[in-house]
Amino acid sequence: MLALAVDLAGGAAPLGHRVAGQAEGSASPPVKLVVVLIVDQMRADYVDRFRGDWTRGLKRLLDQGAWFSRAAYPYLNTVTCAGHATVSTGAFPRTHGIVQNGWYDRETGRQVTCTEDPNVQPIGYGVRPVGGDSSRWLLLPTFADEMRTQRGARVVTLSLKSRSAIMLAGRAGDAVTWLSASLDGWQTSSAFSPAPVAAVQQFVSAFPIAADYGKTWAPLLPASRYLDPDAGENEDPPRGWAASFPHVLKGAGNSPDDVFRAQWEQSPFADAYLGRFAAALVESLQLGRHEGPDVLGIGFSSPDILGHSFGPRSREVQDMYAHLDDTIGTLLDRLDVLVGRNQYVVALTSDHGVATIPEQLRRSGQKGGRVSAATLRDTLERAAQAAGGPGTYIARVGAANEVYFEPGMYDRLRARPAALNVVIKQLEAQPGIARVFRREEVRDAAASHDVLLRAAALSYVPQRSGDLLLAMEPGWTFAGIGTTHGSANLYDQQVPIILMGPNVKAGEYREAATPADIAPTLAALSGIAMPRAEGHVLRSALTTAPRSQSHGQSSPTP
Ligand SMILES: [Zn+2]
Repeated sequence: MLALAVDLAGGAAPLGHRVAGQAEGSASPPVKLVVVLIVDQMRADYVDRFRGDWTRGLKRLLDQGAWFSRAAYPYLNTVTCAGHATVSTGAFPRTHGIVQNGWYDRETGRQVTCTEDPNVQPIGYGVRPVGGDSSRWLLLPTFADEMRTQRGARVVTLSLKSRSAIMLAGRAGDAVTWLSASLDGWQTSSAFSPAPVAAVQQFVSAFPIAADYGKTWAPLLPASRYLDPDAGENEDPPRGWAASFPHVLKGAGNSPDDVFRAQWEQSPFADAYLGRFAAALVESLQLGRHEGPDVLGIGFSSPDILGHSFGPRSREVQDMYAHLDDTIGTLLDRLDVLVGRNQYVVALTSDHGVATIPEQLRRSGQKGGRVSAATLRDTLERAAQAAGGPGTYIARVGAANEVYFEPGMYDRLRARPAALNVVIKQLEAQPGIARVFRREEVRDAAASHDVLLRAAALSYVPQRSGDLLLAMEPGWTFAGIGTTHGSANLYDQQVPIILMGPNVKAGEYREAATPADIAPTLAALSGIAMPRAEGHVLRSALTTAPRSQSHGQSSPTP
């Protein structure tokens, strides 16, 4: 089998003329499948706090894999769509274009989501699907795209969230599947398939979500293992659940209804379902069983949905990870059989972290609070009118760092620098606001030594971002209840990166790394190029074949 050579010493640089065969006698068999697991809202410290609970998949990844314990997103807008796009393209939002989960579209004057596409049709699996979604807003090819075009890979991605499944895949895929916004079934879109994919239809018909109706989520671990009390302050459980265990998936009536489905999405049963779904598709679509490597991507969304409700200091979150350990263990066991042990590579990471519930922070003597986007908008509008004269200035204050002015109004204020300064000063004086960045100062600041300014610059795309970008004080959040993420504070930026598979050296790596390094590293392990990636190959964790095996050239790893 021929593999393109990727020069590990030169990172993900374009290949130039170097094309070499598989190094003969190389120690490991070629990679047949690349598995990317993105656990939504998995903070880096969860590994330290919870790893003693783990006995299966997460433990296996830590024991046999390379764990980058100090990895972090370097940018400001730590949200799901941006994170998944960063992992899949190996680049940052200013380059891949996905600045938020959604943004204010100045052309149409309305909010768009990061996947909406009026030119594609939704395609449902036995449900009435909604929307029309694709990767049209994504400006770079993904790792999966490159694997399809360079190696003929089959691509399967799954998530509860459309943005997770779609950003993991990119332009196309054999089965790109997500939960319908109505939560009552699965869907894809005509961007990926002109009709329902038979293998997906087969699984969802055989295993309806409603089969989990009536189940009880009881704590998995002995009571003494939990680090935090049950029923923490200001938790925000979904309808029908109390703040403490057990949680019954019973809905509001006597049959699977919307209340049941909202409970299901934040239970461990949803992750387990995705794990079984993925294993079934690996088998039915024969991933890893033909010439060239394939790609499986899973966005485990439930830890995020649960985390927003219960916060990181909850027994629910700790228990969710104990269940996820089991789900991932079962999946890896299945891959050992279907693909072959040590013949697939796994990368596990997260799209962002999360803040502690502010009231819990304050109770323990730390600072924190809640910022209202509506209040901020009123304050800003009044300040702008006082400084710049009558008119409507503010179009939108997104609950995620962005302030958009009405057309022409930002420039009107800018024309009188003193007026703009007054407005920004007033904004910076609001509780919870650490810094306010103007669009003209972030535009060329991607290499700035001012860490926070650089973070804003890496999240900035002129046509999509706000005229002003807000950076929050630690502990402060836009969430009205429960908690959220989306800031440049470390608890939102720091996530684990774990790689496992042939040619990966086990151990803990304390060097600086970002999730943008994952795609270039997987590319090196798979023998493809990611010429537009900004991340670096995580070379310290890879074994390299001896130079003599590669026709005098730098050697390909696999
Ligand atoms: Zn979230």
